[in-house]
Amino acid sequence: MERHVKCLIIGSGPAGYTAAIYAARAGLEPVLYEGIEPGGQLTTTTEIENFPGYPEGISGTAMMADLRRQAERFGTDVRTGMVTDVDTAKYPFAVTADDGALEAESIIIATGASAKYLGLESEQRFRGMGVSACATCDGFFYRKQDVAVVGGGDTACEEATYLASICRQVYLIVRKPFLRASKAMQERVASTPNIKVLFEHNTVEVLGDDDGVTGVKVRNGAGEVYDIPVSGFFLAIGHHPNTELFAGKLDMDENGYIRTQPDTSKTSVEGIFAAGDVRDPHYRQAIVAAGSGCIAALDCERFLSSRKK
Ligand code: NDP
Repeated sequence: MERHVKCLIIGSGPAGYTAAIYAARAGLEPVLYEGIEPGGQLTTTTEIENFPGYPEGISGTAMMADLRRQAERFGTDVRTGMVTDVDTAKYPFAVTADDGALEAESIIIATGASAKYLGLESEQRFRGMGVSACATCDGFFYRKQDVAVVGGGDTACEEATYLASICRQVYLIVRKPFLRASKAMQERVASTPNIKVLFEHNTVEVLGDDDGVTGVKVRNGAGEVYDIPVSGFFLAIGHHPNTELFAGKLDMDENGYIRTQPDTSKTSVEGIFAAGDVRDPHYRQAIVAAGSGCIAALDCERFLSSRKK
């Protein structure tokens, strides 16, 4: 197994595989480590209908298998396992992976972000069967139906407003007596007639049967417990970027997202690039991540060729 790597890609979501396709076609002989969740967040969704090029829709797992095949077709060395340490002070970068030590001339970080969940057993049981952490991805499946969104930040308000445009009734479950979201987002929620904000409410359990979610059991501020019938239950309580590996080594924002130089994928360390949700707290879409992976591969190619001169 090759231990000296020209272009190391960490992560196997749309950003990582798109970076691999471009890097491989440019002759960078990329090595890609799949990480803890091969295929990334898309493998936890059901049907993807908004990725251009799939007019009939495609399952997340099938799309990621296609991306992997495409990356391998041009020679990407896809390795199972994790990268566990990177010494950014050395050059070539000293990398430790599950299968041993490597040295890398360049690194593209595409480790993504993970949605936060409440931690209820029932929530996990109905994941992909009515429980979702992405309204833009899955909201369409609940059109003209009743749904609930949990959270009180900008994401929750944005998702509730989006869902209100396609669903019949949206319940916004907020644990505090106020919304944390920006004033503008609060006003949008307040002016949308089919959003009902349930302040000081907590989710006790997601209810469902063999066909999926049928409702949500909530507890209000007075301690009363009651059920709300819904067919979709959306988490919007934040994401955390998977950047622990680079803590203290790369410039990050206050939430741990990697900072990149404007209009590029360049991080604060020359030769290390970031692509996809790991640097994007706002859009979090597969197509955006894929585009960002392309940018990282192009930046990486320019970096490596400038070193040869
Ligand atoms: P936030 O961290 O801002 O908000 C998370 C929300 O979830 C809070 O209301 C929080 O409640 C609630 N929450 C957290 N844990 C639980 C729990 N266990 N049970 C119930 N509720 C819970 O995350 P966002 O994803 O909303 O936003 C992240 C960042 O991205 C923010 O800076 C935001 O401004 C930004 N953003 C901007 C957008 C825009 O400008 N259009 C759109 C989306 C995001 P509590 O308030 O009680 O802590």
